[in-house]
Amino acid sequence: MEIRKIKLNNQIIEYQLNIKKIKKCYLKIISGKVIVNSSPFFSINDIEKLIYDHKETILKQINNYFPKYNYIDGGYVYIFNQCYQIILKDVGEYKAVFHDNKIYVYHYEIQEVIETNLKKILYDYISKQIDYYLNNDFVCNMPIIEIKKLKSRWGACFLKQNKVSFNLVLVHLEKCLIDYVIIHELCHFIQPNHSKLFYQEIEKRMPDYKVKEERLKEIGI
Ligand SMILES: [Zn+2]
Repeated sequence: MEIRKIKLNNQIIEYQLNIKKIKKCYLKIISGKVIVNSSPFFSINDIEKLIYDHKETILKQINNYFPKYNYIDGGYVYIFNQCYQIILKDVGEYKAVFHDNKIYVYHYEIQEVIETNLKKILYDYISKQIDYYLNNDFVCNMPIIEIKKLKSRWGACFLKQNKVSFNLVLVHLEKCLIDYVIIHELCHFIQPNHSKLFYQEIEKRMPDYKVKEERLKEIGI
């Protein structure tokens, strides 16, 4: 792993370069940071050209990025795009209580306690939505729903296991964006790939899905 710098539109940005035993070279942006994974056969010039070709998206994501949480006493966390203040009252009880726009946490392991709650909140929302969509539209069986911390995806669909996974970070976002990810994953039960037909299925159910996809790209994971 190496941290390198590159100038994009008069702005110097850092990127993390990982040389791996892979065939290709690809970049991703996670939490406002640019990461490039590359095969050893790509030169720095190739790599920087790749970054340069995506400079508008990269700059947009880096400059728009702001953390969705700061798990400290007096910190905050966004839930469905609404900000909640964190107040620690450490009495050694592993629980959190939500009141108005505040979260009272009763254990010093703030992040763990809050994330346990967030998992449940997101699970409840997603299962309610999936239930609704299945009753009104889709013909698949109720899938197993999993909430996980995924490194670089909003969600994933496992056809054979009849399972859908969702990234825990979705809980911080507006519900309409979460709905897009839900519909996206459910449509994989109709079309497993990302073909034109697949996006047509999404469009039938969410005509303005492109706006949501764009918004998710800007937010980044
Ligand atoms: Zn997909």
